[in-house]
Amino acid sequence: MADATSAPPKHFLSARVEHFTESVIREMTRQAMLHGAVNLAQGFPDFPAPPEIKQAAQHAVARDINQYAITWGAKNLRNAIARQMKAWQGIELDPEKEVTVCCGSTEAMISTLLAVCNAGDEVVIFEPFYENYGPDAVLSGAKPKFVRLRPPANALGEWTFDEIELRRAFHRHTKAIILNTPNNPTGKVFTRAELELIRDLCLEFDVLAITDEIYEHIIYDGREHISMVSLDGMRDRTVTINGMSKTYSVTGWRVGWAVASEKITNAIRKVHDFLTVGAPAPLQEAGATALCLPPEYYTKLAKGYRIRRDRLIPSLIDAGFKCFLPRGAYYVMTEISAFEFKDDVAFAEYLVRKVGVACVPGSSFYRDPRDGAQQVRFAFCKKPETLDEAARRLEKLRQS
Ligand code: GLN
Repeated sequence: MADATSAPPKHFLSARVEHFTESVIREMTRQAMLHGAVNLAQGFPDFPAPPEIKQAAQHAVARDINQYAITWGAKNLRNAIARQMKAWQGIELDPEKEVTVCCGSTEAMISTLLAVCNAGDEVVIFEPFYENYGPDAVLSGAKPKFVRLRPPANALGEWTFDEIELRRAFHRHTKAIILNTPNNPTGKVFTRAELELIRDLCLEFDVLAITDEIYEHIIYDGREHISMVSLDGMRDRTVTINGMSKTYSVTGWRVGWAVASEKITNAIRKVHDFLTVGAPAPLQEAGATALCLPPEYYTKLAKGYRIRRDRLIPSLIDAGFKCFLPRGAYYVMTEISAFEFKDDVAFAEYLVRKVGVACVPGSSFYRDPRDGAQQVRFAFCKKPETLDEAARRLEKLRQS
């Protein structure tokens, strides 16, 4: 009922949420289900997770590990994370003081940003970027500052950035840089020289590196994954984010973590505790088992994805896409100019409805949608028969 003395009606929504849209990646999965399309949009495997870790999860539930774990993570899992960091990156860390287990690396990222950013801070992000980073920065009060990754001139080349443009993005308000290597969506694996350049800027401008390394083990063509934290001078200036989702094909488990120095970890733990209390306890126990799988597991994982990459890309090329060969992660960015559509969204809509294949429109990886208007991304973390079915449907594109 209107009250003559009342202020204008409240619209109930915070200004924060008005500054970003819903996830296009997740929306494309809904579209794929609606239209019965092959889902090469959202990056999740359609094949089973390793039996050992499923058994470990079942066993944990049966053993009644069904109550809250310690808020910052089950001891077994934190110990396993520390062991792995030592084995893969040569980094010694204290699992009691430097690890926070979260509900997926997604929560690890937002908890980290909430723990380190103040209003007015700037966060440097390479663009195209995994779409969560933009809203993550906004939710934490920080302003994203984008630096362009430029596509290679030919399909076999590397995505690169301009050193001068990167330097220009750093100044006294810069709090952090978000780095994702191996990179989603481009498949770029940052080289040591590139990481050293970023490291030098972090040191010069007193900036924190927040590195999303969720695709650490998914790497091809002899490329090497280097963790920023392993570089001289970065030990206490890096938050390393990782998780189980991609390495163990369990994206729905929501178990990820952030590794950082004690002071930063304390801040992340506070945010994490009040946001979610903790990640699922039995799945953390299964995580401890997963992180003890032998080295061959990881070799096989990368090889499996290389085979899938090399199965999908030729059919995309045949259908008329220009593909940029990914050196890591499980996505391929493509250019769609040959199809002469108005933009990537119109093309993705046509593809999901009329061709029966879901992809992610390129614009969702750019601040200005026009920059991605001639690109779409395909995920190839799928069974061979799923990729073959997609290839069969994509032939329709060539015919039309
Ligand atoms: N990283 C996945 C992708 O880019 C999806 C992650 C998610 O939807 N939470 O498709």
